[in-house]
Amino acid sequence: MKRKQLVVGNWKMNGSLSDNAALLDGLSGADGLMALDVAVCVPYLYLAQARERLASGGVSWGAQNVSEYDSGAYTGEVSGKMLVDFQVSFGLVGHSERRSLYAEPNELVGIKARKLLEVEVTPIVCVGETLEQREAGQTFEIVSSQFEAVIEQIGIENLGRIVIAYEPVWAIGTGLTASPAQAQEVHGYIREQVALLDKAAAGSLRILYGGSVKPDSAEKLFQQADVDGGLIGGASLNLIDFLTICRLAT
Ligand code: PEP
Repeated sequence: MKRKQLVVGNWKMNGSLSDNAALLDGLSGADGLMALDVAVCVPYLYLAQARERLASGGVSWGAQNVSEYDSGAYTGEVSGKMLVDFQVSFGLVGHSERRSLYAEPNELVGIKARKLLEVEVTPIVCVGETLEQREAGQTFEIVSSQFEAVIEQIGIENLGRIVIAYEPVWAIGTGLTASPAQAQEVHGYIREQVALLDKAAAGSLRILYGGSVKPDSAEKLFQQADVDGGLIGGASLNLIDFLTICRLAT
């Protein structure tokens, strides 16, 4: 039997109080989402709004980043403890935009995952290769090194407490989606690697696919044995598209 599917929207730096209200209320009141888990990762500023509008429904909310520090003189940063004040369920770490635009190295991503676990927030650890790396046959190697840096920080004993998102960098925001077979190949590889460390964790680990998932590409991706849902960027800003994708995951 497949694991319970999880579909997470990543709003990135988009939204406004008025636009969000319609989107959040639409999600909160939507039916057909009982059989899966759904969450939206919103800009920090809108966490209070997400909590207010989603609290009575079945959709969770999360953050897109977290500081590697607990508190102190780190202007502009937000700690895990602050996220807990807003009852977030998830936090993204290692999104490729943070890795590339903000030069976040593997070790930092691991530390951020650990910081989230310390406050009982589930890290969604993003991994994925660039087009050059794929063409050079380095996909498994890159994904492994990103993943191993996280295990080094959180410990094998915490493998059962994270979600992984495989997001090929060449597919994010580009309109190019990995084929279902390409996604399955990497998802299967990740699960095999986890199984070498902890068989039970590998069985329950949710591995999401992300990268230009749209209503017309979601179904075949979600049908793959080791694809347990999706991390959805652009399409999560459109209520109808996001709900369609969510329902296709069940
Ligand atoms: C993402 O931001 O994680 C993502 C997958 O974006 P998009 O769906 O727009 O490619």
